[in-house]
Amino acid sequence: MIGIAFSILDEFNFMAKYIFVTGGVTSSLGKGIIAASLAKLLQARGITATIQKFDPYINVDPGTLNPYEHGECYVTEDGAETDLDLGHYERFLNTPTSQANNVTTGRIYQTVINKERAGEFLGKTVQVVPHITDEIKRRMMLLGQDNKYDVVITEIGGTVGDIESLPFVEAVRQIQWELPSEDVMVVHLTLIPYLKAAKELKTKPTQHSVRMLSETGVHPDVIVCRTEEPLNDEIKRKIALFCNVKQDAVIEAADASTIYEVPLLMLQEKLDLIAMKKLNIQTYKEPELTKWKGFLDKLKHPKGVVNIGLIGKYIELQDAYKSILESFIHAGAMNEVKVNVVNVHSENITAENVNEKLDGLDGLLVAPGFGNRGIEGKIIAVQYARENKLPFFGICLGMQMAVIEFARNVIGLKGAHSVEMDPNAAYPVINMMEEQKRIKMMGGTMRLGSYPCEINKDSLAYQIYGTTHINERHRHRYEFNNEYLAQFQEKGMVNSGVNPETGLVEIVELPDHPFFIGVQYHPELKSTVEAPAPIFVHFIAAAKKQAALKA
Ligand code: GLN
Repeated sequence: MIGIAFSILDEFNFMAKYIFVTGGVTSSLGKGIIAASLAKLLQARGITATIQKFDPYINVDPGTLNPYEHGECYVTEDGAETDLDLGHYERFLNTPTSQANNVTTGRIYQTVINKERAGEFLGKTVQVVPHITDEIKRRMMLLGQDNKYDVVITEIGGTVGDIESLPFVEAVRQIQWELPSEDVMVVHLTLIPYLKAAKELKTKPTQHSVRMLSETGVHPDVIVCRTEEPLNDEIKRKIALFCNVKQDAVIEAADASTIYEVPLLMLQEKLDLIAMKKLNIQTYKEPELTKWKGFLDKLKHPKGVVNIGLIGKYIELQDAYKSILESFIHAGAMNEVKVNVVNVHSENITAENVNEKLDGLDGLLVAPGFGNRGIEGKIIAVQYARENKLPFFGICLGMQMAVIEFARNVIGLKGAHSVEMDPNAAYPVINMMEEQKRIKMMGGTMRLGSYPCEINKDSLAYQIYGTTHINERHRHRYEFNNEYLAQFQEKGMVNSGVNPETGLVEIVELPDHPFFIGVQYHPELKSTVEAPAPIFVHFIAAAKKQAALKA
């Protein structure tokens, strides 16, 4: 690279190429999906790519955010609580991300302030430029070190023009200026609205957003246009002319029936070829997308439908259960059925209306969650599934609710509860983990990330996984209280998976039921197009059987 004196980039021995993805006009255009699709196409051509997300908010990570704010908190193998876009990256690429793949303004400032307190700035005034921007640049470059990846794609959260994204855009400007042109590319995702009354596509908002980006000194190489109507050549020429890019670098991103179709749309639009040309990547193969296309084919041509009740308290916001919904899509395709998810608000379920609310469903998934709201509704839903032999799958809090339901209604421990909801519970069947009792801070302090689990051979879990040793990801503070284990086993709730080091109960199941399983971990975080989570696949298979019984 061409070094400039004292540049932060001099610290790096990187060989990677860098692609930055910015967004204009409005949020929610799907930058994450475009970034993931481009990475997928590069990967399919034998080019190794990773994706990272830079978020402009001041939270150090999204772990303390209510799901209503930004949707689900995604957890990586190494236990980072991250933005849900990392879930898309993993589902598309089938490779794990890590702490380094998600950086927020809060984390940048925390690092810089810690350095300042340690006296590392040697008496200098610490400023947004260059200290904050240098730290952003350092993090942007990081994953490109040591020849691990050919290409690092960085998605910049927020919309160009937002006050809080300015330091990130400035960092991109500096990198675009410092690195050789063939090592950096900027993709700008924008919206071309269609005005029905005028029957016209409008390019003005895009012109403005590109102008705003250019005013900060960043020049997009490619404009990806989200649109509900096809872009004709004239429109493309106009966008190219006013946004200062070549016409073949104006790309149409039409609405797709599923996000999994977007890589193929981008392939048609040659986004991968444009990127490889700009980045002077000469070694590549024809895209290998056989598995991907096979999955899409099954997804688009289901042979039946299963109705799954998703029992949760954040159901108004679909992003709150993103990974679960995507896992259903993967598992549905494997079973060649469409999974029709019926959202049931746990706060609205009562003993009186449960039959009516859950009637006609082929399976129930009781969702993860925190706190008291909607808890009794979840417990009633578990009871319904247990008594009516309806396939049941509980994740994290959902598993804990299954334990409480069994304690109360089968073992007869009236007043059994989790100490999370009732610290003085008569029978604390779900207890706070020992190491959690000493923790006072909320952020990043749960039991997070991947832990091993040993599975009993004689169990549903073993039929599902086909192995006795698995690793799954976690995010919780409470656990099954092993003091009660004998009572559960005696009455027929089996512990079929434990953590080998601590004895923590990871899986419970009811052998005397067609499909009843609760897991302390989050299998939805590891489900990808190429490797759907086995437990979702088996759950949907059980629901399919249930649907056939009814027919
Ligand atoms: N609130 C529960 C706990 O902390 C469950 C967490 C979850 O569902 N992710 O243990």
